[in-house]
Amino acid sequence: PELTDISVIRTLCEKYDFALSKGFGQNFIINPGIPTKIVDASGVDKRYGVIEIGPGIGVLTRELAKRAAKVVSIEVDERLPPLLAETMAGVDNFKLVLQDVLKVDLKALIAEEFPGMPVAVCANLPYYITSPIVMKLLGDRLPIESLTVMVQKEAADRLAAVPGTRASSAISCAVNYYATSKLMFTAAPGSFYPAPKVTSAVVRMDIRPTPAVQVEDEAGYFALIRAAFGQRRKTAANAIASGLGLPKDAVTAAIEAAGFDARIRPEALTLEDFAKLQQALAR
Ligand code: SAM
Repeated sequence: PELTDISVIRTLCEKYDFALSKGFGQNFIINPGIPTKIVDASGVDKRYGVIEIGPGIGVLTRELAKRAAKVVSIEVDERLPPLLAETMAGVDNFKLVLQDVLKVDLKALIAEEFPGMPVAVCANLPYYITSPIVMKLLGDRLPIESLTVMVQKEAADRLAAVPGTRASSAISCAVNYYATSKLMFTAAPGSFYPAPKVTSAVVRMDIRPTPAVQVEDEAGYFALIRAAFGQRRKTAANAIASGLGLPKDAVTAAIEAAGFDARIRPEALTLEDFAKLQQALAR
């Protein structure tokens, strides 16, 4: 059966007494062109082990299993395994892990499930936890090549923004530190069931072999970035002073010592600039 067909989805839901959960961010793909487009965007082929987050009823999972060597899907909703057993029947390179993705030891999972294989993450993410998931996948320094994720368009713009440009934010900096990122395509609300309120988009992040800048104190570096973006429409100096609990004069002096205008905004700072600023603040 075609899992993008609403009548097929309704029949499955009735059969398994399953009602889609808003709380789990369940908006299933019903545009038949999208699963192929996401897998195309991911660059995954027969050599790859793929981690999928949130298989739902398996619409993207089936396309991934067709094109990758092996797929491990992580799903939190305990009502879905019986349904997936039907939709994934006969697919022997698929495995389901029933757990909250934020609690899974992904390093151990990769070592166990994908020894010696290139690994990629590919998913239509639950939108309510986009940032925590992306931060975990990047920050855990997993041996993965790339992440290709469907998210809300607005989140996609932040994930794809280059630090130092207007659209950038703390998460743009974090993404760019670990990866290069690119917005691949957008999808209208009608591509999903139920239709979300906003447009969606797919972003691909390719993990860098080494982070974009070298910093001695990584935790401090990210704390500085988060503080700088912590207050909308404030200058970097004000936001950093209040975010890190430092005297405003000292922060302004450090910003000037690092070679920036005292009234510079956080969006104007690149990853290198934040590294320079961290050093100036340390002095
Ligand atoms: N892949 C399916 C599709 O594209 O039609 C479903 C995508 S739906 C946007 C998000 C999926 O993530 C749902 O299946 C939901 O139950 C699951 N999910 C939500 N929170 C999760 C979590 N913390 N860990 C793992 N999966 C989660």
